[in-house]
Amino acid sequence: MTELIQVKNPATGEVIQEVKIDTEKEIYEALKRGNNYFQEWRNVNAYERSRLLKSWSQKIHDNKEKIAEVMTLESGKPLQESLGEVNYATSYIDWYAEEAKRLYGRTIPAASETKRIIVSKQPVGLVAAITPWNFPAAMMTRKAAPALAAGCTFIVKPAEETPLTTMKLVELAHEIGIPENAVQVINGRGSEVGPLFTESDFVRKITFTGSTPVGKSLIKNSADTVKHVSMELGGHAPLIVAEDAEIDVAVDQTIASKFRNAGQTCICANRVIVHDSITEEFVGKLTEKINKLKVGNGLKKDTQVGPVINEKGYDKIVSQINDAIDQGAEVLCGNRYDADKEQGYFFVHPTVLQHVDLDMKIMHEETFGPVIPITLFHDIDQAIEIANNTPFGLAAYFFTDNYKIGTYLHDHLDFGVIGWNDGAPSAAQAPFGGMKESGLGREGGVEGIEPYLETKYLSVGGL
Ligand code: ADP
Repeated sequence: MTELIQVKNPATGEVIQEVKIDTEKEIYEALKRGNNYFQEWRNVNAYERSRLLKSWSQKIHDNKEKIAEVMTLESGKPLQESLGEVNYATSYIDWYAEEAKRLYGRTIPAASETKRIIVSKQPVGLVAAITPWNFPAAMMTRKAAPALAAGCTFIVKPAEETPLTTMKLVELAHEIGIPENAVQVINGRGSEVGPLFTESDFVRKITFTGSTPVGKSLIKNSADTVKHVSMELGGHAPLIVAEDAEIDVAVDQTIASKFRNAGQTCICANRVIVHDSITEEFVGKLTEKINKLKVGNGLKKDTQVGPVINEKGYDKIVSQINDAIDQGAEVLCGNRYDADKEQGYFFVHPTVLQHVDLDMKIMHEETFGPVIPITLFHDIDQAIEIANNTPFGLAAYFFTDNYKIGTYLHDHLDFGVIGWNDGAPSAAQAPFGGMKESGLGREGGVEGIEPYLETKYLSVGGL
């Protein structure tokens, strides 16, 4: 019997489309095809792989309005953000189309004149990717582009909530001539597809963006076949506003960092840590602007904050807000909802909480929603201690115009991505990734193609 995933519009709860779940046998066959085709794709020369990636990027650009609409329909994010994501997604393809031509090896001086030492790079093999619903285009291209550029074949399982954007991107890749077996998409439930990927001898690498518990299980399950793994996992980003910060910049960038995608990004500021001497001004300006944000259906032109993805996400946000209030937090704005469990839509109005203390759930569990908890500090070391007090280490932000304080914060914050007076640090040319339980490996930049390459060393003797 054919099983279907119902893809729903998070703004209305309506079913947009039904997508077929691939059977175990179909997934096995897809992995086998990807593995067989690897031997051909790795030999396609780098300039041709680069050309194909560039024309894929162009094709996505040509269809960006349509792709953005599909993305908004299935993910809920405002249309402008979906368009922004399409551009962001292609920026990775463009970057790795260039990097395909720069997979340099090297020669190393030998200790004997009769020897030569030569190092070269080769693709790891078939790559299996599992992607999340919050960035259905960019999280796919950030993996597919370096994999294809390196000469790996690629198969992706998108999140059940948002398969349509990914399916469209793969369709366009095939349309411009990237071979069907070089890039494939399959659909299914994560818990069922995960083991099929990790146990398969065809797959040489697993790359995943999603929650830390699922990432940990994928790492464990990859051990038996010693696969390469790249993991972009959860975060709990601190955002520090120092005494000498430019308050207007800090306010605008906090809003940019926190409310993009309704707070559902792994690098969203999750804790705002403000110097006690400037709290009043910062909080006043922040809440004034937040109160003006338009919450609604992402298809409406003026919407700035869309719905949260589903009931599970909504329940978690509400429980964190209630827990904070029960323990004495003060609501400065928000704590309002427009949700209907029957219909299946969930809007959370941007919320700011003050007098938050470190024991509250919101200060250590990832929120994934439009809520700002504010806590205060006096000495910069106290801010660093609060910021680093988490098993996560993905993103951190700080605002200061004092270069000594800024340098000190940069040196002491244990996070892989840091924004200094910048709430939007992601870029295709920069290495994105987390420390501690936030992940393994980096995506973007020259670092982002390394995980798709093996290093091979040749020693030539008897010369
Ligand atoms: P969220 O709870 O925010 O949806 P997940 O980590 O569960 O985050 O989901 C991210 C991706 O991981 C999705 O594609 C999902 O289908 C997949 N996934 C969920 N559970 C598993 C699992 N046990 N093994 C492999 N992939 C999984």
